[in-house]
Amino acid sequence: MAEQNKGKKIQAIRGMNDLLPAESVVWQKIEGLLKQTLTSYGYSEIRTPIVESTGLFQRAVGEVTDIVEKEMYTFHARNDSDKESLTLRPEITAGCVRAGIEHGLLYNQEQRLWYLGPAFRYEKPQKGRYRQFHQLGVEVFGLQGPDIDAELILLTARFWRALGIDQHVSLELNSIGSLQARADYRNALVAFLEQHKDKLDEDCLRRMYTNPLRVLDSKNPQVQALLNDAPKLFDYIDDESKVHFDGLCQLLDFAGIKYRINQRLVRGLDYYNRTVFEWVTSSLGAQGTVCGGGRYDGLVAQLGGQTTPGVGFAIGVERLVLLVQTVNPDFKADNEIDIYMIASGQLSDGTSVVAVAQRLAEQLRDQLSDLRIMTNYGGGNFKKQFSRADKWQAKIAIVIGENEASADKAIIKNLQTGEQIEITQQEIAASCLTILAKIKGE
Ligand code: ATP
Ligand code: MG
Repeated sequence: MAEQNKGKKIQAIRGMNDLLPAESVVWQKIEGLLKQTLTSYGYSEIRTPIVESTGLFQRAVGEVTDIVEKEMYTFHARNDSDKESLTLRPEITAGCVRAGIEHGLLYNQEQRLWYLGPAFRYEKPQKGRYRQFHQLGVEVFGLQGPDIDAELILLTARFWRALGIDQHVSLELNSIGSLQARADYRNALVAFLEQHKDKLDEDCLRRMYTNPLRVLDSKNPQVQALLNDAPKLFDYIDDESKVHFDGLCQLLDFAGIKYRINQRLVRGLDYYNRTVFEWVTSSLGAQGTVCGGGRYDGLVAQLGGQTTPGVGFAIGVERLVLLVQTVNPDFKADNEIDIYMIASGQLSDGTSVVAVAQRLAEQLRDQLSDLRIMTNYGGGNFKKQFSRADKWQAKIAIVIGENEASADKAIIKNLQTGEQIEITQQEIAASCLTILAKIKGE
């Protein structure tokens, strides 16, 4: 078998993408802006494992959700004697809550956490929908008022401004009330749907008893038309949740955040209560939800911790990157080389000039730690080395031949203007900064 496949190309798994250098710089820039914003609100990073017990997601996300019913990558570890069922995380909130409980971070405390990492769902791959994708999210524990809900929305709004996409996303908002309110509504909704079974598709019929609220999510136009006459969740919402929601709307109005109340917005996961929201765009086709979130005051207790309020959101990073690139084709990340070290020859004691260039590059990195400095390897005459400098779009070349090396000097060349001078190696750092400032037009 192994012999038969020898030499055969192995390819990436469908729906799981490589991120090549041209793209990864863009990701780094976007992630950098997001992390900077999170830090400016005082949030801290949490990293949890990619693999968790299957039971965690069954309990947190809910048995009757798309994710648990059909999207999880579930397996048994090879040598696991008790054959515990393991799952590649389909979302990251459950792991955060598990970790918070396990390490005593939650009860009677306040936590403002963020995470960024891959999640896995067995879905049909298409634009904006993959089997391995990345989520950047926030989870806040220990705060129950609408003020923190509003902060999360302000924070995401700041993300969009930082990325120049604020004109291309809009906020949908709803309250799904308490668990009890939803149970009451559920009964009313099922009673209504039972009278209109003929208009429901197969998916909705199946959902009707298992997770009827998800029928509200249906994309089927006939079902959507039917739902105009269905009982409204808002009419069943408990008073406390209403006060919470009004409080949130007031805070958003005061902050000048525009939103649309969408009474059909229920979100796919079981753990939400009260506030739910999504940031959506019409610029990405069918995969229009860039960010989804809400409150989950019951989740910590459901996973075995002491009751602790929670609220959070998750952004699909692939969709965010796509959106940034779609609406702003000029969004570029700079990965050009600032200084390219060119060296050739050998000193009288046998030391190669490359060693001198390498030492000088190290010194420059000590002095100019923000710059990108690359050294030419693999030899080549000066012409060839200069053409490599061009290939890396270097701004400055530092050229050292045998004469310069033995005199502790170097030639520094502005690759944009072609000007060059010979200077001592001590002067190089200052001289590079002057040239770079000139190139930037400062
Ligand atoms: P959708 O309705 O598009 O399937 P969802 O409700 O399943 O989304 P969430 O579980 O709320 O999504 O995940 C948060 C965010 O993660 C989504 O808003 C989306 O941006 C992103 N996301 C979800 N699934 C995928 C996927 N398979 N590929 C890429 N991004 C995804
Ligand atoms: Mg989904």
